[in-house]
Amino acid sequence: MRVDIFTSGIWQTTSTVLSAGGACVVVDPAYFPRELDAIAARVAELGRAEAVVFTHGHWDHVMGHTALPEAPVWLHAALASAIEHGDRQAAAYLEEARRFDERWYVPRPGGYRWPAVRRGLGHGEHADVAGKLALEFLHLPGHSRDGLGLIAHAAGVACVGDYLSPCEIPFIEDPIAYASTLHRLIDVAVGVRQVIPGHGPPLAPTEAIAIARADLAYVLALLGAPDADAARAIPLPRAADVPGMREHHLDNIRAIVPNA
Ligand SMILES: [Zn+2]
Repeated sequence: MRVDIFTSGIWQTTSTVLSAGGACVVVDPAYFPRELDAIAARVAELGRAEAVVFTHGHWDHVMGHTALPEAPVWLHAALASAIEHGDRQAAAYLEEARRFDERWYVPRPGGYRWPAVRRGLGHGEHADVAGKLALEFLHLPGHSRDGLGLIAHAAGVACVGDYLSPCEIPFIEDPIAYASTLHRLIDVAVGVRQVIPGHGPPLAPTEAIAIARADLAYVLALLGAPDADAARAIPLPRAADVPGMREHHLDNIRAIVPNA
């Protein structure tokens, strides 16, 4: 099995092409049209795209499927259901992509839409892609409730979506779920050779585990904070100087600390 990793010019968003014997699975193809063309060209060199995987529904991860129109899209069952039911949040993700593109004059020839052919997946499901590529899927809630990770055991690689990024602090929607996902990811990291986060470079297992532990300490400190002032004083696990991280910290506090 081959692993090709692409890094977008926005937020070091990673796109991963897993391939074996001409069968390709493309995780989170992102983001700019030129980058999507390069990913599609690489897939054409390797063979054909059997599936696109969304690690979750956030806008920066879901716009690239139009560059691989022959492939069905695999996504967590919660996102599949949200799309199916015309959920407001799912519509808002597409709208956020449109607003970003308008602001930065980004052309989007494929438009702003969810894929027509979708397969909802749950925790522990396996896929044997064209008999060549075996994948195991994981539910990873906490950042968003539709988080979907995957392990390609033959390559020793795990794609984990928006967890364990060395570039940013945790963005927390549900702290209890986030903490339990971090425990799950520590177990995953022990069993692979490389962990690919949704943003930033791939990690050795020891690096992934160190980030997971630091993030766990941060989430548990937020959960244990008696009030918003105490929560604000909690040090960020990393990236404290990156623009926007203090604001994300305040968002986390609003999501977790009562009356913050
Ligand atoms: Zn996200």
